[in-house]
Amino acid sequence: MTTVIVNATVVTGDAGRTVRHDAGIAISGDRVTAVGPTDEVRQAYPDAEVVDGRGKAVFPGLVNCHTHLLATGDRGILEDFGFPTRLTFPVSARSLLSAEERQTLAVLGVLESIRSGVTCLLEISSNVAGYAADLAATGLRLILSENINDVDESRLRQGEFHFDDGRADAGLQRSAELVESWHGKHDGRVHCFLAPHAPETCSPYLLRRTREMAEQYGIGYTIHLSQSREEIEAVMRVRGVSPTHYLFANDFLGPDLVAAHCRYVDSAEIALLGQCEVKITNNAAIAARRGAAAPVRELQAAGCVIGMGSDNMAEDMVEVMRAGLFLERVRRNDEVYPQPEDVLEWATVGGARALGMEDITGSLEVGKKADLFVVDLLRPHLVPSLRAVSSFVHNGQPADITSVMVDGEWVMRDGRVLTIDEEDVVRRAEAAGHAVWSRLLERYPNVPFPINIPPPIV
Ligand SMILES: [Zn+2]
Repeated sequence: MTTVIVNATVVTGDAGRTVRHDAGIAISGDRVTAVGPTDEVRQAYPDAEVVDGRGKAVFPGLVNCHTHLLATGDRGILEDFGFPTRLTFPVSARSLLSAEERQTLAVLGVLESIRSGVTCLLEISSNVAGYAADLAATGLRLILSENINDVDESRLRQGEFHFDDGRADAGLQRSAELVESWHGKHDGRVHCFLAPHAPETCSPYLLRRTREMAEQYGIGYTIHLSQSREEIEAVMRVRGVSPTHYLFANDFLGPDLVAAHCRYVDSAEIALLGQCEVKITNNAAIAARRGAAAPVRELQAAGCVIGMGSDNMAEDMVEVMRAGLFLERVRRNDEVYPQPEDVLEWATVGGARALGMEDITGSLEVGKKADLFVVDLLRPHLVPSLRAVSSFVHNGQPADITSVMVDGEWVMRDGRVLTIDEEDVVRRAEAAGHAVWSRLLERYPNVPFPINIPPPIV
């Protein structure tokens, strides 16, 4: 079965950043089999299903290198209390979700992802196996990872860092079970990573065992790094060095590591990350909400591959790209860097490279999997279509995206998501979010909370 999209603007995302006008792209099975002038592509596939792409642009699907889908249930609240949160509840609302609420919020996050052109995401969560099947059923390309640590969380609240090998082994065991159950499933559409949480919550033992296990399975691994000033202070106090140097001293830095955030790294840390060929996920929208910015240009100059991620409360990678452009220009007081093409590269092939999937996804080139999204360029905020990438990165909205394909299958077509019952998921997620925050407030009535939670609207 071959589909050809013709008469379109095709943003290939190849090494030369080629944008083809009045072009066609052919998809046979799960792969891109031709990109070229409309007439050539049509003639090469006379029996193909033809999709008219007039007025449309076809982009490579966006790759979200770092997210926590269940945090969709915290939106409207946790964006505005800093990180770590200044709210003083002893537990998070997220930890009180039922199994069914977790499934609902995870699928809600995928729904938002698809609507914003995401075709591949790295999910990091505790007990991700509980909703892995729900995620796989959405048709998205997935990297699933179990969030683990081995710090005694009850003593952490008193500022004591005590580590427990038994807890490390239990987390590694859950990670191994996830990998054995899911890695390579759905014809390779689902992959797995390992995910020790952060330098301050992981012992040298856990860091070393993680890298050994990742090498044993031939998979990548990820960690939060230089995410908050509290993290840096804690690692300096407990380990006597910066978080990056602590990871280096425990043989954790390497080309299969995706380090998330890297907001506060100094020049010595940047050099070390580059030297070790660590991949970075620049989570620009949440970074901006936290009042921080990663030194992206310096990390890239040091040799780090840059991807992008949404992290918490939002899955909108269109916004992440724009935030990435704004934040880096403001941070550097630079009117021209990065260019929209740089940011699109981070959010597509950069992310694919970071996740070890450059041969599979990240650009529209012959032989790669057909992961793409289609944008209606004939919108008031996108015409004139003089430079499609710039128009979309500066002005595009998820609502401009009409169709999304993953692995050669449409997951959204002409504005309708085909793999999820959208109305039902939105209604259940509205109920779940209200229920879990009410549950938290009922359990801890004396914790100061400045928000009056209204009843659900459906
Ligand atoms: Zn995170």
